[in-house]
Amino acid sequence: MSQIHSQIHSQANTSQTLATNLLILGSGPAGYTAAIYAARANLSPVLVTGLQPGGQLTITTEVENYPGFATAIQGPRLMEQMAQQAVHTGTRIEYDLITSVDFSHGSPFHLMGDSGTTYKARSVIIATGAQARWLGLPNEKRLQGAGVSACATCDGFFYRGKNVVVVGGGNTAVEEALYLTHHAAHVTVIHRRDKFRAEKVLQERLFNEKKISVLWNTIVEDILSAGTPPVVTGVVLRDIQNNRQYSLQTDGVFIAIGHTPTTSLFQGQLELDSEGYIVIPTPRSTQTSVPGIFAAGDVQDKIYRQAVTAAGTGCMAALDAERFLSGL
Ligand code: FAD
Ligand code: NAP
Repeated sequence: MSQIHSQIHSQANTSQTLATNLLILGSGPAGYTAAIYAARANLSPVLVTGLQPGGQLTITTEVENYPGFATAIQGPRLMEQMAQQAVHTGTRIEYDLITSVDFSHGSPFHLMGDSGTTYKARSVIIATGAQARWLGLPNEKRLQGAGVSACATCDGFFYRGKNVVVVGGGNTAVEEALYLTHHAAHVTVIHRRDKFRAEKVLQERLFNEKKISVLWNTIVEDILSAGTPPVVTGVVLRDIQNNRQYSLQTDGVFIAIGHTPTTSLFQGQLELDSEGYIVIPTPRSTQTSVPGIFAAGDVQDKIYRQAVTAAGTGCMAALDAERFLSGL
């Protein structure tokens, strides 16, 4: 755990009530950026980290596309810097997990922490992110960052001139495969059915791309590695039509089988779309279906899902919350 994240103390089993102008849920780029802006607006925000202080970027290595760093920055280090900046500007950080919310009576809102703390907040920014879905293979987790990835935009650069596979058949898989052709020598898309669910226009682009081939009706049964530290060397596949198992050499495995937004807490409290993402009814805003509750980052974004876009919407949410609070 990083320096500042290890210094954040839990409110273990207290039953205190913590009142605040603004409660921010989540310590990824969206949450910390919202905190920095809100603290600089003298809102004295409280940020609850959740179980993954620093968010998704703490499980990656080099981040090369976050502006401001001449070369790469390690994901955990970037998040450490954001946490320090949030504290420096005046954010109170709580190492806690929000376990239930009540948005039904309007502002002030009541939220319960796993620690026993009740949070009473005049406004709330939800930045609880989304988690990539994984296949659940035994070697998949072990090889994350060593050839297994769920983000081509983030990691594609490391596969210049190499062979990679992409698993999935939706828009994300097809877009990731197309993106990877800018770097990789060859991209093999592995899909469990004989049809993509991706939009036709994307499919056409993929079928016209000479660097891409598709293995239909095929599932990945294992990921192979070699060396110390280990790097991916191949995948074990099964053709589900004839049940044949075989290996394919590859340098990288990109899993693109969808994301799950972290929103189960908000079911029945906020409008969510059919995939569980928080709905922002008005374009160019972060206001959710409940006035005073704002959402930023991956929890409301199924298209871009980048650290910089999460940070951007975090900034927007803080500015929207400031406007809401001054109107109360
Ligand atoms: P997240 O980073 O997902 O953070 C969510 C936060 O919410 C966490 O702190 C969690 O603890 C907290 N939380 C969840 N539930 C609760 C709760 N109930 N109470 C309180 N807190 C809660 N993007 C890039 O731009 N460049 C990259 O190189 C890059 N690499 C990536 C590599 C990997 C392996 C992955 C998985 C993603 C990568 N991404 C990259 C995507 C990027 O990490 C995300 O777009 C970004 O982190 C989203 O930020 P966020 O703040 O919305 O949410
Ligand atoms: P998705 O549409 O849910 O597609 C997931 C794909 O992964 C499907 O093809 C599915 O196969 C496959 N899959 C799921 N679980 C699997 C498993 N365990 N093993 C093997 N394959 C598995 O997810 P997505 O592509 O991430 O897209 C999510 C949403 O974001 C969609 O609404 C999409 O339109 C949107 N999106 C839009 C854009 C854009 O507009 N440019 C870009 C990206 C995403 P089956 O087909 O057999 O179910």
